[in-house]
Parts: sequence; C-alpha cells; structure tokens
Amino acid sequence: MTKPKPKPPAHAPQHLDCHTCGAQCCRYFALQIDTPTDAEEFDYLRWYISHQDVAIFIEGPEWYLQINRSCRHLTAEGSCGIYETRPQICREYGWDPTGKKECHGADVANDHDYFFTNLAELEAYLKAKGIRWASQAAGRSSPRRSRAKSRKNSQ
Ligand code: SF4
Ligand code: SF4
Repeated sequence: MTKPKPKPPAHAPQHLDCHTCGAQCCRYFALQIDTPTDAEEFDYLRWYISHQDVAIFIEGPEWYLQINRSCRHLTAEGSCGIYETRPQICREYGWDPTGKKECHGADVANDHDYFFTNLAELEAYLKAKGIRWASQAAGRSSPRRSRAKSRKNSQ
C-alpha cells in the first residue's frame, strides 16, 4: 500500500498551531501516486481531477492525489472524536515549531512545488511543460477502458 501523505492543503490558511488552524490536516487525505510517464497516464490525472473534492500536487519527483473530505471523527468543535484510539499517522503528524514533526505551522503552504485544484490548472501546467495527454492523440483509449485499467492498477 502506498504511504499516505499527511499535509495541510496548499490553500489552507496560514496558521500558527493546532488551536488556530481549524484542524486542516483532518479535512483531507493524500496518497502518493505513480509518477506519470506517458500520455495515457497524464490523461488519468485529468480524469482524477475532474472529480469533486480532488486535487493533485507535486513535490519534487513525487505526485500526490489529494481527497478534500473531512475525517468522520472530526467534531464540530474541530477536535478528534476518537482521540484516544486515533490512527498512528494522526499521532505522528503534528505541528512542531522545532521542525521535528512534519507540520511546521506557517510554513506548510510552501511545501508543494505545484498544486492543482481543477482541470484547467492541470492542463495549463501540462501545456507549459509541453506534455501531451492521451485524449489529444489519435486512436485514444475509450474512457471506459481507461477507467477499468486504472482501477485494476490500483488493486
Ligand atoms: S498538525 Fe498542523 S494542520 Fe494539523 S491541526 Fe496541527 S497545525 Fe493544523
Ligand atoms: S482520527 Fe482524529 S486526528 Fe485523525 S484525522 Fe480523524 S479527526 Fe483527525
């Protein structure tokens, strides 16, 4: 299983600590995806980001899929409803001004090299990089076939 990425989204408000940020890290999850290498894989990215509440970001050579949906255990007050039994990744991640933990408060929004929230932003990036995607090419795969293959690859 690909390791999930706990990180506040780039559009999260700048914040100082866990009491003032609005529990940004409990409002999404992100998974590293295979680095796209060909036109078909770049077209998959277009499919992913066409869905609601999905974003894609890049850090160095690594690509991530981000799902902007809150954790079911996040309370209306912004606290964890299963604090004593919360998953390990929630325990390890946190704000630490000394930099020992991953969230460094006000610096978090600077961690992404690129962040895409919609199809237009992603396509602008691909065009700027001279990257073509499958549906631009002749003889493209049918969406139904691509969808089945993508699901198969994720198993
Ligand atoms: S770890 Fe970071 S993003 Fe999560 S609640 Fe604390 S300050 Fe906010
Ligand atoms: S389990 Fe608790 S700490 Fe972990 S994401 Fe959900 S609300 Fe946040």
